[in-house]
Order: sequence, then structure tokens, then C-alpha cells
Amino acid sequence: ARQIRSRLLELQNKATRYMHELLLSHPDAEHARAYLKGRGYGKEMAEKWEVGWMPGNPRMFLNWAKDAGFSGRELCGTGMASQKDEGNPRAGLYVRFRDRLMFPIKNDYGDIIGFSGRQLVEDKKSGKYVNSPETALFKKSRVFFGLDKARRAIGREKFALITEGQIDVIACHEAGLENTIGTMGTATTPDHARMLKRYTESVVACFDSDSAGHKAIAKIFSECAALGLEVRVATLPEGQDPDSLIKSQGVEAFRALLDKASGFFDYQIDHAILTSDLSQPVKKANLARDLAVYLKKVAEPVTRDSLMAHCATRLGLGLPEFRETLNRTK
Ligand code: ATP
Ligand code: MN
Ligand code: MN
Ligand code: MN
Repeated sequence: ARQIRSRLLELQNKATRYMHELLLSHPDAEHARAYLKGRGYGKEMAEKWEVGWMPGNPRMFLNWAKDAGFSGRELCGTGMASQKDEGNPRAGLYVRFRDRLMFPIKNDYGDIIGFSGRQLVEDKKSGKYVNSPETALFKKSRVFFGLDKARRAIGREKFALITEGQIDVIACHEAGLENTIGTMGTATTPDHARMLKRYTESVVACFDSDSAGHKAIAKIFSECAALGLEVRVATLPEGQDPDSLIKSQGVEAFRALLDKASGFFDYQIDHAILTSDLSQPVKKANLARDLAVYLKKVAEPVTRDSLMAHCATRLGLGLPEFRETLNRTK
């Protein structure tokens, strides 16, 4: 199994180099280069993150792999290709990524464990991003995009800045925030929280300002609180993400929002104030119950107690009443 693993890593390494060369110089990749440029990124960014281009014609990639000495089985092992027909090996291979901007995804040691490919020409029939499937190397419950590059800065800054997208991670690193990592749009798992815990005690989430981002924040809090990690939340204007904000308003505006990051409970309360009328007792009781659910996830008792007091004060509730809500919460 170890030998297979090293072959798969070698294949993904060589494929990364191949696709990177195509992006930099293949005549058919002109639109991919224009796309990057249009988003404000140059050659240095592509080099630093080993960004590549996967051709639209799958034969090109399959021929490359064959010439480089990799078998169909090995291609399938990385998820870059799959059998068109499981029952019939002669039916040929289906290539997973086509005409996409390719981001290699690394583990914390810097091994390339998978890819994320962004569509270059809008086509509703396939997703904006396609990622590697679960393989022997790629376990999405344990992936943070950029962790290999961010781990030292996370230790130095004493917190990890977490975003949703790989472009967000890249934008943040370019802005000098090298402690940034990305969830790649997947829900945080207990494994993610355990990984974070190896590097830091504290996390700032800066997710997209939309309902998906709001849900993702609750999830990351739940997993982190169980391990005693502190979670703060930086809120962006409606509809923005870190990349779009940095591009439209500049690094300083983004940094200012990060400096104003609030604790998770203040974030929840502020969000509720904006989205519901808390002068209605029912609405306020609902919020108290929601907060109680989150408070129960805080593993550390002293922290939980002071957060509880803080929430009660902000809601204008007596501590005994709020404690009763908490006691009734499963
Ligand atoms: P861009 O700025 O290039 O449009 P984004 O990062 O802002 O991309 P979002 O739609 O906010 O994209 O999604 C956040 C992350 O979720 C993406 O970076 C990607 O990792 C993942 N993702 C988005 N859409 C898909 C999809 N259709 N399939 C798999 N993963 C996806
Ligand atoms: Mn989003
Ligand atoms: Mn974006
Ligand atoms: Mn986004």
C-alpha cells in the first residue's frame, strides 16, 4: 500500500508540473491566462500556488500520462480519471477535469493529495468547481487548503484565519495574511478541529456573507468549541467574500473588518438583531434557546459560565431565567 501511495503522489506531482507548464505557455491556454489576469492575479501567484490548466480535450492529458509511464489504474487511483464502464476495461477512461484552472491541494506536509478545478467558461451542466473524489490520498474531512503554507504563520500569529474558498486563501496570503487556510466549501468535521488544535487555540472565521456562510460558521463553532478552541467571526458586507472584498475595497478595508471580528456569541446575537424583531418575546425566547444550544457545546466550564453571563446581559435576561433555558436544553 505504501508503494501505491508513493506512485499516486508521484503522479499528482508530475501532473501538477505538466498542467502548470500548460497554463504558463500552451497556446490553447490563452483564455485561462486571461481569466487569472482578469481576477487580478499574475504569474507569481500561479507559480507560488502551482496553479495549472487542464485541457478541454481529455486525450491530451491521457497521452501525457501514458508517455510519463502511468497506468490507467494509477490515474483512477488519484481520481483524475475513472473507468467509463466498470464492467468493461476496454471502454476507456473518463477524465474528471476538463478546461479548468487547476489548484493542487496539499496536506500539511506539502504532499499533493488532490485537486480543485475551477470552470473557465460558464456551463451550468457542471459545477463551478470540481474537486478530487475521496481517494486513498484525498479525505475531504481532513483537508484545509493552504495549511502547508500557513502553519508557521498560524503559530506566530496565534490564530488561524479560515475562509471558504481557495481563491480567498490566495487573496489573503497575497494581502500578507499568511495564517489563512480554506475549508473549500465543505462542512467542518471533528477531524478538522483536531488538526487546528495541533497548531493553535484560536480561530477567526471569515466566510462568505450569505446563508451558506452563516451555516458554516455554526458548524465550525460546534466542532471547535468541543475541543476548547476559541472562535471569532469577521463579518463581510452582504454577498462578499474575502477575495471580492480585497479586490473591490483593498487590503486595509479587509484588515479593518478582521480587527473588528466578534466572539461567536456576539456574532449570533448581532445576526439575530438584524434578521428578527427581538422586541417580540417569542423571538427573544427563540434566540435564547439557540444560544443555549451553542453554549452547551462549550466544553470548558468556566468559559461557558462567563459566556452565559455575557449572553444574558446582552439579551436583557436575568441569569436565573437564562440558566433555566440552558437546563431545559438538550
Ligand atoms: P470564485 O470566487 O472562483 O467564484 P468562490 O471560492 O467564491 O469561487 P464559492 O461559491 O463561494 O466559490 O464556494 C466556496 C468554495 O466551495 C469554493 O472555493 C470551492 O472550494 C467549493 N465549491 C464551490 N462550488 C463547488 C461545487 N460546485 N463543487 C464542489 N465544491 C465547490
Ligand atoms: Mn459561497
Ligand atoms: Mn469568490
Ligand atoms: Mn465565495
